[in-house]
This record gives sequence, structure tokens and C-alpha cells, in this order.
Amino acid sequence: MFKFGQDIGIDLGTATILVYVKGKGVVLKEPSVVAIDTDTGKVLKVGSEAQNMIGRTPGNIVAIRPLKDGVISDYDTTEKMIRYFLRKVCKNRFFKPRVMICVPSQATEVEEKAVNDAAISAGAGKTFIIEEPIAAAIGAGIDISKPYGNMIVDIGGGTADVAVISLGEIVVSNSIKVAGDKFDEAVVRYIRKKHNMMIGDRTAEELKIQLGCVYPRPEVLSMEIKGRCLVSGLPKVVTVTSEEMLEAFEECAAQIVDAVHTVLEKTPPELVGDISTGGILLTGGGSLIYGLDKLLHRETGLDVYIAEDAVYCVAKGTGMSLDYMDNMKQGPRYRN
Ligand code: ADP
Ligand code: MG
Repeated sequence: MFKFGQDIGIDLGTATILVYVKGKGVVLKEPSVVAIDTDTGKVLKVGSEAQNMIGRTPGNIVAIRPLKDGVISDYDTTEKMIRYFLRKVCKNRFFKPRVMICVPSQATEVEEKAVNDAAISAGAGKTFIIEEPIAAAIGAGIDISKPYGNMIVDIGGGTADVAVISLGEIVVSNSIKVAGDKFDEAVVRYIRKKHNMMIGDRTAEELKIQLGCVYPRPEVLSMEIKGRCLVSGLPKVVTVTSEEMLEAFEECAAQIVDAVHTVLEKTPPELVGDISTGGILLTGGGSLIYGLDKLLHRETGLDVYIAEDAVYCVAKGTGMSLDYMDNMKQGPRYRN
């Protein structure tokens, strides 16, 4: 069939939004942040430019992350953000694109509908919904159509999703609201308690990425960080080590291990057998925290792999599934 419109896949993540254009691959990767002028309601910046404003805005400007815990928490802003990115990638203004968009495995119908409606009002022609773990698996190059169990653990900013997939469907899944953001919060809390110092979210994330670990690093790393002393109220500098981060992350890490155990316990034995052969696949930015693969291996005895391009898997899989689009859940079914 000859088509004028584009086919587009969107990974609408809590932390990152990625856009895949059929024939081109992932063309855009930006933080899911929008800066808004509260006096006029106008969008000032979207993506990384808006991200740089977080915590540094004057009174009349707010930098918003419109998705929280994996679902839309601010509908209007989400729609504006999608509109901005669609405009950026759509060359043809006359024909609306077909858009495949992913939702977390445990999203409710209401949440799914919100994502769908936001995409439609942001300028999508037809919309299609795919569950994130399925997209992650396809994007990681797994052939999910076989009667064979694969376990995917996708850790983003808001949620960690554990799913067992076979024959193209999710057989068992679990989603917890413990992911990258919770690790950042754990750093802030730890530094406040241990060093009597207040640090910002950006510093916390940097510490997590540079030093953070959920399994001991082969050598202890350290880093100097700046913040505000809670006693004197003045700027303060302290040196933090990776061992301290291990302590800070203990609880979050244990919750992720628990979530994996829970799914394994509910998985039918044949599929558990498959997983014990094939191992667990980690995707999403949150899975890049040092040692998560080693920790999960220690706690489950299974092989654990981090997907190549872990941050891109869901977007790629969402885009790749555009080819099967016509057989998938179609957005406007909600319109009856
Ligand atoms: P989402 O799908 O929710 O948008 P992403 O898959 O983009 O999320 O992952 C975002 C999370 O990954 C953030 O919390 C970010 O801090 C974290 N992250 C990204 N890179 C790393 C890294 N190298 N080490 C640890 N965490 C990371
Ligand atoms: Mg994601």
C-alpha cells in the first residue's frame, strides 16, 4: 500500500522519551521534561534544555516531569511534549503519522487510554499500544513468537518491570515503583543523614551513575560533591565513596531482587526451565547501575545479561513492531 504518512514509535518513559521513525531508527532521545511559564501557561523548553532548568528556575517558571511512576501524571503537559516531538520528527505536515506507543505492563485501561488520547490530540493519526516488556524484548533482538520463556527486567526512572514472555504474550509480570528515581532519592537521604548535607537531584543522579553500586566494585571509588550544610546553612564539600553508595542502595536493590523472585515463583515450571537456560535480560537505563547483574545472579543463581543499548531497547522494539501494527491493539478502540 502506498502511504504518505510516517510510521513512528514512541517510548514515553518517565525519565526519557525516545522516538523511532520507520526506516531511520531512533532519531530522538530527550529527557521527559517540560519547562512552563506559570503566568501564561506557555511551554518554554522541552527535553534537555528544560532538564537543565530543574531546580534552577525563577518563580514563574516550572520544570515539570509530566510522567511519574511510569504513567501520565500531568495530561496536558504530556500532550504538549508529544506534540513538540512529533512536530520535530514529522516532515510532512499534511499526513498524520501512525504512532505506536508503549505502556507499562501493569498500566490500567484508564492509564492506557490517557496515553492513547494524548498521542491523538498531539497529532497522531492512528495509534497503537504495545506493552513495554514486549517492546523491550523485541528491541533486544529476542524472537518472542516461540513457545519459549524469556525473562525481561526493564528498569527505568519510575518503575522496574519484570515479565516472563512466551508466544508473544506476557505470561507473568510484576511492576514496582522502585527504579532510577528511587535510587536518586536514596542518595539524597543518605547524604543528608550521614553527612548532614543537602544535595540536589542532579548531584544525586551523578553520584549514582559515577559511584553507585548494588554489588561491591572491584576497587573503591570516591568523588567530591558540593551541597549545603544542614547545620550552618553554608556551602559544603564532602568526599563520598562507592562503599557508602552500596549501603545507601541496599533497600532499593533488595526490592528489585524481591520483584524478580516473586515473578519466578509464579512462573510455570516449563518456562522456569527455559529461563534457567536463557537467563535474565536487563534493559532500561536503571539497569546500568553497577552490579545489578551480579547481584541478581547471586540471588537467583540464573545467568543475567544487560542488553546491548539497554536504554534504546523499548524504543527500538516499539518501532520494530510497527511492521506488525495492523494486528495489534489499536488506539481508537477506546472511542466507543
Ligand atoms: P524511563 O524508561 O523511565 O524513561 P530510562 O530507561 O531512560 O527510564 O532510565 C532512566 C534511569 O536510568 C534514570 O534514573 C537514570 O538515572 C538511570 N541511568 C541512566 N544511565 C545510568 C547509569 N549508567 N547508571 C545508573 N543509572 C543510570
Ligand atoms: Mg522505559
